[in-house]
Amino acid sequence: MSIKTFLRTTDRIANVLHEYDIKSPEDFFYNFPREYEDRSTVKTIDQLSQWEKHTIKVEVLSKNYINTRTGKRMIEIKVQDEKENIAFLSFMNNAYGARSIQVWDWILATGKPKHSYGKWVMWFPEVVKESDGLGEKSAAEADFSGKIVPIYSEMMGIKSNWFAKKVYERLDMIPEGFDEYLPQFLLDSYGLIGIHRAIRSIHFPDNMKELYAARRRIYFERLFVWQLLSNYQKILADSEQTEKDIVIKTPDRDVIKDFLERLPFELTKAQKRATKAIIDDFYKPDTMLRLLQWDVWSGKTVVALLAAYYMNKKHGKQAAFMVPTEVLANQHIKEVAKYFLPLGLRPALLAGSTKAKEKEKIKQELLDGTIDIVIWTHALIQDDVKFKDLGFVIIDEQHKFGVNQRWKLKAQWNPHILQMTATPIPRSLALSFFGEFENTVIDELPPGRSPIYTKVTTEWEFKRLKQFFVTKIQQWQQIYIVTPLIEESEKMEDVQSSMKEFEEVRDMFYELWANEVWLLHGKMKAEEKEQVMKQFKAWKIKILIATTVIEVWIDVAAATIMVIKNAERFGLSQLHQLRGRVWRSDLKSYCFLISKATWWDTYRRLKSMEKYTDGFKLAEIDLEMRWAGTILWTRQSGQMDIPDEVFKDIRLLEDTRMEARRLLKSDPKLEKYSKLKKIMKKYAKGEDILV
Ligand code: ADP
Ligand code: MG
Repeated sequence: MSIKTFLRTTDRIANVLHEYDIKSPEDFFYNFPREYEDRSTVKTIDQLSQWEKHTIKVEVLSKNYINTRTGKRMIEIKVQDEKENIAFLSFMNNAYGARSIQVWDWILATGKPKHSYGKWVMWFPEVVKESDGLGEKSAAEADFSGKIVPIYSEMMGIKSNWFAKKVYERLDMIPEGFDEYLPQFLLDSYGLIGIHRAIRSIHFPDNMKELYAARRRIYFERLFVWQLLSNYQKILADSEQTEKDIVIKTPDRDVIKDFLERLPFELTKAQKRATKAIIDDFYKPDTMLRLLQWDVWSGKTVVALLAAYYMNKKHGKQAAFMVPTEVLANQHIKEVAKYFLPLGLRPALLAGSTKAKEKEKIKQELLDGTIDIVIWTHALIQDDVKFKDLGFVIIDEQHKFGVNQRWKLKAQWNPHILQMTATPIPRSLALSFFGEFENTVIDELPPGRSPIYTKVTTEWEFKRLKQFFVTKIQQWQQIYIVTPLIEESEKMEDVQSSMKEFEEVRDMFYELWANEVWLLHGKMKAEEKEQVMKQFKAWKIKILIATTVIEVWIDVAAATIMVIKNAERFGLSQLHQLRGRVWRSDLKSYCFLISKATWWDTYRRLKSMEKYTDGFKLAEIDLEMRWAGTILWTRQSGQMDIPDEVFKDIRLLEDTRMEARRLLKSDPKLEKYSKLKKIMKKYAKGEDILV
């Protein structure tokens, strides 16, 4: 049934829903509420208690604007419940909800009340007017007062209460669209509720307990399917492997000798260990899938190149080095050329901006085997690039390289794959989300790095540090200032506000030449960025104000100071990666985290940056504080829409992994589970990964 017929709605609305991938009745029910408002326990004012969240239903008696001692303008609203108890609601002047409230309105206010000087006050409550629709009794039969009310994300003007009403009217139609796809034994052994009840309760739970049960069922399902997808191919391949396929060979350590001799440094123990692990993998019956993780600037590249060199010298196979950006590609090609050319290997760069003619030539040379290693921006993965014999793929600092692309690579060439990441992933997460990977950690930094000084501070304090910055510049050092503007944002305001930030800093350092302070952001063209970076490297630019584009950068030894504005908007793992950019030489380096954080939790979270320089430790704190989404940089999870709170439930992660693998081992092609296969296809977004 089309969504338009199902909802009896207009073309316009159907089109909007299509934009959001809501194309069928099931999709519609799969659009879960973002949050809920518990109106099932509306209290009267005399029933309130401090520190707990409550909802009260009250009538507005008066609305006053007052000025506080600190010069802020506030709105104070006096309200009365049906028993004529009095309370006060306090809002910032610009609070969206407060402005539209009028005297005599009946409203539902939700917040944590405080009893002070003999009166009840709720600071910054969330308010819903009874006439806003959800509480409205006239139009729809749906009467939501006294219920747990779902709140949906707005879609291009389609409001939450439109969804709520449409879902409510159609609750009885759920069984038509959903056929239980989880095997009964899983439902039994994990005490999961059935799909019909889960979908119903996730939209309109009767109580919080039921909502919890519904969520648990849905999260289990998602993680389980995710684990099936991640493990499917590997277990299938294992099951088809016969004894005689397995030929034990041993690595030949002398192969990389001449490379090692050319290195200007000694490998650290950890680097040696990692190199050995990779080369050993080349001799195992399955092709390698290995995750190499450790901090930025810890020396992962050379490990990968050693392995590529080995693969080429010993087995005559080609390697591809996939990088996410052109800037990074340009940097890598230089390093690769430096090492490989004198050793007789031919590298090439294949990037988005490579000219068509050049591209054709490279493609030809990849096919006839003239080129040994190609640096590849992964936009090209769809291209019709063919290799003579691709043996090894290195995936560097991937941000958007999903599991589906990996499968494509496997299907085409079945190369050994080394995925490198500078985001330390706590063990428990790594196990569950890269379950099919072997995991290597380079846990030792190259020698000669002095520790980084990190300080959480305020904007005001930052201005007072000006002299310090000027002194550092006089000592030939350079500064990054990072502002967390949303890189993908197309919005004019964002560009404008970063311009404003830029001008402010330029004004602050008026004694520098205008072109010594410069701005770099994601909206700039690749050549422009390149140009700015060149100037920065050449020490023409002293202060570089950048949005997070520098996350995937770059080698400027004199840059020793990083200032991160609005630091609270980043996860610790991200902050740690960012500060890695200035933490790289024997010069003392500094990181200032500027924040207006007023919440204790936020402040405490940032303070951990002062205390720890261990990326794993910080990632774990992220995890504890529900920032897991920022750890899984690919947001491969995001692709499946798994909320952060699931990541907290390590048990659930591990259980689903174990069950998925067990099921696959018993039935590698899932022949007995056709319904599961169907839902896997849905989750894989149409990618044809199931053979
Ligand atoms: P990553 O990819 O882990 O961020 P890189 O591989 O780019 O780090 O290495 C960072 C820098 O450290 C490079 O300039 C590299 O030449 C240097 N380096 C790597 N290993 C060592 C080592 N064992 N001793 C000294 N310097 C090293
Ligand atoms: Mg690197």
